[in-house]
Amino acid sequence: MTVCNATVPDKDASGDNLYGDVICSQTYIDYFWETYGFEGNKSYWDDGFGWENPCDTSKPLARTFNACYLLTYSAEDYRNDDWDAPMLNWARRYVRENTSRHRAKCGDGSAIAASFRGWFIKNRVELYRGFFFKHTVPERAGTLVHEARHQGGKSHNDEFPPGSIYGEGRDGADSDWDFQGAWMYNALYLWWFYAEGARTTSAMKQRAKHRGNLIINNAFAEHPGFTI
Ligand SMILES: [Zn+2]
Repeated sequence: MTVCNATVPDKDASGDNLYGDVICSQTYIDYFWETYGFEGNKSYWDDGFGWENPCDTSKPLARTFNACYLLTYSAEDYRNDDWDAPMLNWARRYVRENTSRHRAKCGDGSAIAASFRGWFIKNRVELYRGFFFKHTVPERAGTLVHEARHQGGKSHNDEFPPGSIYGEGRDGADSDWDFQGAWMYNALYLWWFYAEGARTTSAMKQRAKHRGNLIINNAFAEHPGFTI
């Protein structure tokens, strides 16, 4: 059964075969479910989204768990998630402590993810088809960090620059790198993963580098002045 009429792209290229072999263990499944805001949200992950088979990497849940694995275990000394450690270490803690709910929905096809937060709404991150089926595993992990930054209270504060793939003049950019917004967190995480990531492959690191540079070149009103 397909969900949201999605076609599943090459799972070697996306990293879903690589990580999918690892996450298919009850220990990991339980850990991710309890740690990253799935618990209590089962109704958003069943009926084709993967709850019935969390090892099936054609389904959204296993593809999200793959990103949870990358997020959790890519630092060589992953047990250290102290804030003084590199971001590769503490990003998992940042997501864990800021995002209390992850929910899956189809979305319009192009949508990746969205953060909802406020007084009279349930704080939550929604993940859509673009996240599940267009992103590679490292890109998904970067998006979990991005949305957690929004859950942590940081919204975008500027417009996309001239030539941006996200649409020149549209809202949704960060003003600059020092703003330390969701795009900076996203790109910085991918940078660390590219530079120091463990339990992965050079192909995955190249995906992270590519995506990080795409963000750096398109998502800041003022270009940071460097690339990865
Ligand atoms: Zn954002």
